[in-house]
Amino acid sequence: MGLLVDQINKSFGEVRVIKDLSMEVREGSIFGFLGANGAGKTTTMRMILDIIRPDSGKITWNGQNVNKVPRNRWGYLPEERGLYPKMIVEEQLLFLARLNGLSKQAAKKEMNEWFERFQINANRKKKVSDLSKGNQQKIQFLATVLHDPDILIMDEPFSGLDPVNASVLKEAFLEMHRRGKTIIFSTHQLEQVEEMCEDVLIINKGQSVVQGNVREVKRQHGRNVLRLKLD
Ligand code: ATP
Repeated sequence: MGLLVDQINKSFGEVRVIKDLSMEVREGSIFGFLGANGAGKTTTMRMILDIIRPDSGKITWNGQNVNKVPRNRWGYLPEERGLYPKMIVEEQLLFLARLNGLSKQAAKKEMNEWFERFQINANRKKKVSDLSKGNQQKIQFLATVLHDPDILIMDEPFSGLDPVNASVLKEAFLEMHRRGKTIIFSTHQLEQVEEMCEDVLIINKGQSVVQGNVREVKRQHGRNVLRLKLD
């Protein structure tokens, strides 16, 4: 069980941006979605989240059409980020967690734990816009996970992060993995996929190029795997 994307297609006007794309993400796994700019990663993620609909094909989570899955089961970290810059960090996180159905008490407890783990206690009363890029990204991550979703869809979560913050975020991913969450994240970088994922899908111009176990894919394609995603 898990996420099944079955032969989806999507066009914007005359342009077909996703072509007969299928993918399988095992429940509880960390799945890497690798492709160059404009390959179709964001569009695919938005269809998985049922923000936009495929023109054809089917997407299910544990056998249920994604449009039937309760919204608070998903956690989405959008590429364009989604924080309110002028809102106080902890107020914003509590607001979002409450919107997603978490009690105030549970949200506070969870938030406090993450503030400790990320060592960002000093930032909790600041406006989001006053934080460094790395800290903003940690808050964005918390906004995605605080309500305890089952599936995390993260659009280029590591982009623009320095190595220290990238490794903090990577640890946070592994913590969510230990909690049994299913994580799909997009990236341009094969190294991030190798470090964290068992399975990968490489997408190019809206089409699946190669898909499967990361080690197996590397064994079969070797260095060419990098060229595959950039063609
Ligand atoms: P990036 O790494 O740059 O975010 P991506 O792999 O996420 O790239 P998408 O954002 O899914 O790629 O875009 C795939 C293609 O679809 C691009 O050519 C893009 O211009 C086009 N596209 C995406 N959304 C729309 C839209 N709403 N209307 C028209 N074209 C769109």
